[in-house]
Amino acid sequence: MYRIRFHGRGGQGMKTASRILGSALFLAGYEVQDAPHYGAERRGAPMHAVVRAARGPIQERGFVDRPDLVVVADEGLLAEAGAAILQGLDHHSLLLTVGREPAALWQDRLRLAGPVLALADAVIAAGERHFLGAFCAGAAARLLGVVALACLLQAVDDEVASFGEAAVARSRELAEAGWRGLEEHAGSVGEGSAAGASGQAPPDWIELQAEAGDLAAPSIHGGLSSIEVRTGLWRTQRPVIDYAHCRRCWWVCSEFCPDSAISVDADGTPTIDYAHCKGCLVCLAQCPAHAIRAVPERGASS
Ligand code: SF4
Ligand code: SF4
Repeated sequence: MYRIRFHGRGGQGMKTASRILGSALFLAGYEVQDAPHYGAERRGAPMHAVVRAARGPIQERGFVDRPDLVVVADEGLLAEAGAAILQGLDHHSLLLTVGREPAALWQDRLRLAGPVLALADAVIAAGERHFLGAFCAGAAARLLGVVALACLLQAVDDEVASFGEAAVARSRELAEAGWRGLEEHAGSVGEGSAAGASGQAPPDWIELQAEAGDLAAPSIHGGLSSIEVRTGLWRTQRPVIDYAHCRRCWWVCSEFCPDSAISVDADGTPTIDYAHCKGCLVCLAQCPAHAIRAVPERGASS
């Protein structure tokens, strides 16, 4: 059975990646499962999606804990332990990162027993991050080596159709780019062994560390604890206010911000709290003066 995990952030298309790969494998004759798993369901939050594919019935359910292939669409997630990207990786598992850094760097930093590959995402423009799913699905299909390009493109047509012709056309291009980008590694991911119910290790006891009372207090009425969660770490795009064009209509951006990350001075000037702004860009969409622009987080001045 093949077991694949796609890791990314909400809004980067990892659910779509799992659906495209799942459909492509189905068209190639496999029994398939594909499903997304969300934590905090917000744009920019870590999430993952899984695919299982086998020539016979699939009895497993839930989290893929022994992956044959892990695809990471956002290198920044590798620094977040909570994203659980490395969970279950062993000498058999292949890790594919999509981004700027070379495979040797991740192999050295993460000290993994299994192979690491990196695929540059240079073919995707900054405003096309939502197409990462098609790119990653194409790359994963090539690594499995059992999906013909025709099946991959048919799967793109089926899964992206509801987003319109332009989205289908661009998704086809990027799926094929991902597929061709790993040509020399075609078939390098092998099927993992079957997992019987009797071979499973029992879960370990987990010692929960006691936290300070203001964090661990059980009362749900305890206020202001969410300020401890630095959701600014989720951000891939940073909203930047151009004060020369800002009309000080503060009730718009500050009210729409779902995280209350925009404070307002006495004269109506809004200020974004980058420690807690998660980069959803709702404020950018709502600003009537178009006074907020988005810049890639990587390289943005702090
Ligand atoms: S909505 Fe736009 S123009 Fe209005 S205060 Fe906010 S940033 Fe300024
Ligand atoms: S400041 Fe803008 S981008 Fe940041 S969380 Fe609020 S609405 Fe989203």
